Amino acid sequence: MDMPRRRTKRGTQRTDLSGEFDAVVCGASFAGLAVARELAGARRADDGAAPRVLILDRYEIGERQTSACAAPTRWLEALDLVPAIRQTFPDLVVNTPYGTSRYRLPFTFSTFDYPTLCHLLDDQNDAEFETAKVEGREGTTVRTDRGELSAPLVVDALGWRRILAADEGYQPPDAPLSRGLEVHPGGNGRDLEIWVDRSYVPAGYSWSFPARDELRVGVGSFDPRFHVKDSTVRLAGDLDVDAVHYQGNWIPHKLRPAAEDGVFFAGDSAGHCLPLTAEGIRTALYFGLACGRELRAVVEGRSTREEALRNYAAFSASHRHAFETMLLVQRLVPRVPPPLLGPIIRALGTKRFVDWSFGHYLEIAPPEFVEGAAATGHSPPAGGRATRVGTEVASQAA
Ligand SMILES: Cc1cc2nc3c(=O)[nH]c(=O)nc-3n(C[C@H](O)[C@H](O)[C@H](O)COP(=O)(O)OP(=O)(O)OC[C@H]3O[C@@H](n4cnc5c(N)ncnc54)[C@H](O)[C@@H]3O)c2cc1C
Repeated sequence: MDMPRRRTKRGTQRTDLSGEFDAVVCGASFAGLAVARELAGARRADDGAAPRVLILDRYEIGERQTSACAAPTRWLEALDLVPAIRQTFPDLVVNTPYGTSRYRLPFTFSTFDYPTLCHLLDDQNDAEFETAKVEGREGTTVRTDRGELSAPLVVDALGWRRILAADEGYQPPDAPLSRGLEVHPGGNGRDLEIWVDRSYVPAGYSWSFPARDELRVGVGSFDPRFHVKDSTVRLAGDLDVDAVHYQGNWIPHKLRPAAEDGVFFAGDSAGHCLPLTAEGIRTALYFGLACGRELRAVVEGRSTREEALRNYAAFSASHRHAFETMLLVQRLVPRVPPPLLGPIIRALGTKRFVDWSFGHYLEIAPPEFVEGAAATGHSPPAGGRATRVGTEVASQAA
């Protein structure tokens, strides 16, 4: 994509930072980069100039991998991120102590390389980028360790801590958070595999996601009090791989308001990670795009900031039913008597059910959203690809 570049100096030159921007996007991972993408090529309504958009992250882009990096391939294709793909899987293999099932999915998942994906996505915006630690805000002034930045449009795409929230935010483990830990040994495998095995984790699941020359082997617990380290080490041992290159994080499993006190929240900061599966990349991209489209409408004078906050909050909330249903299943699964798990998982493996359930699952955040094909509202501005989020998508997704 041929976009004008207005990059500023990178992290080593940590001079003071201050100024007024049209938009400040805090967090340069999936959600933040998706927001910025939708502002590319925008022109301000008042003077026709390109808006000043600043992306902030405490690390360089792509520096800190935050997940096993598996996502539906169609999403990666739609966003021109295919070169980041490491391995593609037509099947999901589900292991239980009572048997193994292989599901042929109606769409494939791919594992990808995090730095490559972030750089490819970052190439799709024309924002400025600075490394700075975001510490808080007063109104729409963002406080960082390098100074204060103001903008009428402020986005928190900083992950589960929701640093720009008006209140104190969540304090684990007393919060609706899951926890995940994984190791990344060298090695290869053929299948995307999960384990529903309470000997590893009483409520949650374990996984091994091959990524060409590396395996991402981990354990996720829906109960934030369950320490996943020992289980991760044991799973690695059972798979005969080394428990090396750890990475872990809290994973939100409850939707939170996507707009609050004049700030937009996208991705994990808004609880956009799906309960039960802990799939949060696709949804961070999806809600990031939706947020970016609202921001663009404000910059281009097609909407006010207040309308954008309202629209985006309503769009996010319109997915509540899907998120709550998945949370309900997340709570029910650990209560299923163990001997029934194998038969149930086998019974759910009929092609009809897999196609139906995974089809609906993909529809929660469908890849068509990237092109705005399913969106209603304003038509794309000339030269840009953004459309407004709309009720049609919202009701489909719900
Ligand atoms: C072990 C594990 C495995 C997972 N595997 C998968 C998977 O395979 N597929 C999937 O779909 N989901 C997976 N998830 C969930 C997924 O990682 C998240 O839902 C997703 O990363 C959310 O994206 P985000 O952009 O909202 O936030 P994040 O990816 O968390 O990004 C937040 C960004 O903000 C920056 N930041 C944070 N605090 C500050 C600060 N104070 N100042 C400046 N910058 C800051 C960070 O550096 C980071 O770049 C996994 C999670 C875990 C923990």
